[in-house]
Amino acid sequence: MANQKGEVNEKMEAIISLCKRRGFIYQGSEIYGGFPGTYDYGPYGVELANNIKAAWWRAMVQMEENIVGLDSAIFTHPKVWEASGHVSGFSDPLVECKACHTRSRADHLLEAVGAFADEKMSVEEINKIFDTHRKDITCPKCGKKDFTEVRTFNLLVQSNLGNFSGDWTKEPTYLRGETCQGIYLNFKNVLDTTRVKVPFGIAQIGKAFRNEIAPRQFIFRLRELTQMEMQMFVTPEDEMRFYEIWRAKRWQYYLDLGFKEENLKWHQHENLVFYAKAAWDIEYNYPFGFKEMEGVHARGDYDLTQHSKYSGVELSYLDPQSNEKYIPHIVETSVGLDRTFLAVMTEFYAEDDLGGEKRIVMKFPTKLAPIKVAVFPLLKNKPELVAKAREVYGMLKKEMRVEFDDNGNIGKRYRRQDEIGTPFCVTIDFDTLGEEKPELKDTVTLRNRDTGAQERIAISELVKRMASHN
Ligand SMILES: [Zn+2]
Repeated sequence: MANQKGEVNEKMEAIISLCKRRGFIYQGSEIYGGFPGTYDYGPYGVELANNIKAAWWRAMVQMEENIVGLDSAIFTHPKVWEASGHVSGFSDPLVECKACHTRSRADHLLEAVGAFADEKMSVEEINKIFDTHRKDITCPKCGKKDFTEVRTFNLLVQSNLGNFSGDWTKEPTYLRGETCQGIYLNFKNVLDTTRVKVPFGIAQIGKAFRNEIAPRQFIFRLRELTQMEMQMFVTPEDEMRFYEIWRAKRWQYYLDLGFKEENLKWHQHENLVFYAKAAWDIEYNYPFGFKEMEGVHARGDYDLTQHSKYSGVELSYLDPQSNEKYIPHIVETSVGLDRTFLAVMTEFYAEDDLGGEKRIVMKFPTKLAPIKVAVFPLLKNKPELVAKAREVYGMLKKEMRVEFDDNGNIGKRYRRQDEIGTPFCVTIDFDTLGEEKPELKDTVTLRNRDTGAQERIAISELVKRMASHN
């Protein structure tokens, strides 16, 4: 994969290759030649993704007394996307190469020549900037410099759900472009059916769909993605106070996950949408440079006002103390699961030397690791070792995600577990059986992924030992 300067990015290549080789991520519809903008999470990928979701849910719902969860439908009434502004304004600037007809995002082509444009500018503004740089901009496919005018392209994905007419494109339903709309739609439901009071938040994890013109950078820019979003409903006076609270919390969240602070950066939006009070992104130092991972936004009363207007249902809040009625303002934290996943792969990927041997090792924190411990019988052809190893596996699997592996020599099994980031390996050997040294009976070798250090530990101590490790 080439970065903006066209250099091959070795780290990105290594991560993509590991993701495929070890069953983290597969290209979507691979046997059909792939389907751009989609990826499938494999056996270890789904474990890691679930652990990332669990860490987010813990921080945003479990640890927050006044935030509740939600799982709203992917399909909504089509009017939702008119109210939200997506039907008219959710678009990217598109140009087409006249020579090879490759479509690109104008803002991405401009970025490559050091110029700035974003989707919030008008098409006229972007065309003006594009024309200034036209002579320098080359087609990423064929290298020619002959482009059409910039036009806007709406990113909402349309469908025929519930529409049985011959031409459903006239009245399409949409796959949701973002998960937060489902939260706004349920603001009143949650208020009426639970004991929440302003300030309170609703959190949701779910799929969103965008007709990206040029999906790229592996799982960074997808057409089908998963978002983890929280919307906090606050008084107008409190909006900026909560905004700063959430900025601080979300920054700390990544440090708690084990990210190095130098790999994180705040980026302030240069262009704010008209209703927003503030918008900052947390950028991560991806192999292709610092790019947006999470957005923290102060959205004013725009969302609930719009849905009140379009639905005809009043979405206000009556303060039980002051009896004052108002439309709550919203502070939003919004992060992509897939972008977090790629950041986690980048952050914890390491190549080192262990006992004179080069290895790739994923140094995931235990809470994120797809497999917490692997259990090996030293030899596959000794039934008494295998039986004991099965017994240990059976005990551990009730507590955590465990893998049993008796395939190949021990060194090879360690390498495999290192590459999928398993913090511990347990080996059952002849000492475990205690035939020659009775004092070692029911002890095993516990091997640490990061240091390679091995220690002798009683089987009865294993669960406690794993639980104490982060
Ligand atoms: Zn071209």
